[in-house]
Amino acid sequence: MPQLRNMRLLIKNGYVVDPAQGTNTGKSLFVEDGRVVGVMSHSDNVPEGAEVVDATGLIVAPGFIDMHVHLREPGHEYKETIASGAAAAVAGGFTTVCAMPNTDPINDSAAVTRFIIEQAERAQLADVLPIGAVTKNSEGTELAEIGEMKSAGIVAVSDDGRPVPTAGMMRRAMEYARGFDLPIIDHCEDKSLARGGVMHEGHWSLVLGLRGMPAAAEEVDAIRDCALAELTRARVHLAHVSTRGAIAAARRAKENGLSVTCEVAPHHWTLTDEAVAGELRDLPYDTNTKMSPPLRSRDHVEAILEGLRDGTVDVIASDHAPHHADEKALEFDQAPFGIIGLETSVALAMDLVKQGVISLERLVELFATNPARVLKLEDRGTFRAGARADITIIDPESSWTYDVSHSKSKSRNTPFAGRNMTGAAIATIVAGRVVFLHPDFSRLTVSRASAARQAK
Ligand SMILES: [Zn+2]
Repeated sequence: MPQLRNMRLLIKNGYVVDPAQGTNTGKSLFVEDGRVVGVMSHSDNVPEGAEVVDATGLIVAPGFIDMHVHLREPGHEYKETIASGAAAAVAGGFTTVCAMPNTDPINDSAAVTRFIIEQAERAQLADVLPIGAVTKNSEGTELAEIGEMKSAGIVAVSDDGRPVPTAGMMRRAMEYARGFDLPIIDHCEDKSLARGGVMHEGHWSLVLGLRGMPAAAEEVDAIRDCALAELTRARVHLAHVSTRGAIAAARRAKENGLSVTCEVAPHHWTLTDEAVAGELRDLPYDTNTKMSPPLRSRDHVEAILEGLRDGTVDVIASDHAPHHADEKALEFDQAPFGIIGLETSVALAMDLVKQGVISLERLVELFATNPARVLKLEDRGTFRAGARADITIIDPESSWTYDVSHSKSKSRNTPFAGRNMTGAAIATIVAGRVVFLHPDFSRLTVSRASAARQAK
């Protein structure tokens, strides 16, 4: 492993992409003491004593932020810990992840918020920003102590895993969250429609004899939340949007000037509900195709791709949801919802670039610029001078096969095991510290600019 001390680090010859500043070509990035100094032109002198990393052929982007992950600690450390989740994050190219509050106990107090931050600081890998619960114990009946959690460090509120159950409670939550200038992230699912469903309601649920959740269950709540965003003027973020109707609701809300944003997860555009029938490995009822919201039919996938293309979708988030193999080994009906995703998100998004669905600049916007904007993380998601030196270096040509047995996550629940991927994080740098180097890091050549060379 190259010895990068990176008090002063110059990353040169890479393709520097920073949509926040419109920087997207042939520049060098200089960082010092954990902060960005600036983007330099190639003719500028190499700063004295700097480590020089040659990133020829590589993409140099502001550190990627995954604003929707489940780290399972406290309470379910056998599935994932904050440290193992943070290790998976940096291996996948993420410098910051946001931890959803559905742990045990639920993060509905300043004490749990502080615990998460301390555990992440101990791990010294990705930065972990906690998301606090909207309601006490995420039960949907009484608002949580949002102000105390905000003082302790939360960046948003959500009862994710569950929707906020009634429009009345959601209205109060939005008004309250707005007072603290926090976005409210909703898992849109009308339980009275989705109840008992284990996959998307449609052709394949009928064929497989599984109970379906209609797309309308998501769409009804998304439309409700947009109406309430208009009423309250709160910042509202729709989590893991998977349906045509929810995309349309977000698009309309934006046209009306509301503070509504939304995210999509890679599995929702990469797979359809046919995967439950065994489309992937001739393995019907594979519980690694069970998640909530569920894999949808082709028409919904097309709507997501259109949302990615036309700017309606703000953010790509993995919804990384680790579960133990024994739990996922249950019958499809009984198995828990969710898959891991931190190590596959970037490659699955690079597929969209290869297919011409989105540009590389748009990919960086979805992974870095926009999550920082949605969460108001002003010194992240950009290479503006003074920003944190959070950097994701990507090799767009790297071909690899996902061997989940080598995952940094404690869990293995993924439908993408054995899949051939293109595009990988080669180095992940958090606040100027190299926290991950890909085994193929030899693509990066490191040298040190000596004082003698400078004198010439
Ligand atoms: Zn959710």
